[in-house]
Amino acid sequence: MPLTGGCGCGAVRYRIGVEAMFTHACHCMDCQRTTGSAFVIHSVYARDDLQIVGETQAAILPSGSGAGCELHFCAKCGTYIWCRYLYHKVDVIALRVGTLDDTSKVKPRAHIFLRSKQAWLELPADVPTFEGALDRDAVWPVESVERYNATRPGG
Ligand SMILES: [Zn+2]
Ligand SMILES: [Zn+2]
Repeated sequence: MPLTGGCGCGAVRYRIGVEAMFTHACHCMDCQRTTGSAFVIHSVYARDDLQIVGETQAAILPSGSGAGCELHFCAKCGTYIWCRYLYHKVDVIALRVGTLDDTSKVKPRAHIFLRSKQAWLELPADVPTFEGALDRDAVWPVESVERYNATRPGG
């Protein structure tokens, strides 16, 4: 069943017909700043799996890897919808799952960059955590790693 979502003003809408490769919460300082919150929840998809209607703009900001991160947001209201971490060798994006019409089905399967996590926030004990970046081979399902590796080059 396809997922749908969009920006705050409705000018940008998107649709996704496949399962996410993985969903994680990132507690790094960059994500805290760009969300204005304590963490972001990102679902990883091939760029080709995201069908978008409406005008977006992009900005490249620094990221922990040093390669940068290209943020895409609604050209009208500025809602930040997805990003591309430029260190990826394949054309995948991280969707901000807070922009989905129904966010209730999405749960982070790992928490990353705990070294800058807010101290008041307690995480569930049964979800893997990482002090820094995530080890894909350790926590992603094997079929998702295969999908990732089969995604066309880009980034
Ligand atoms: Zn908008
Ligand atoms: Zn982050």
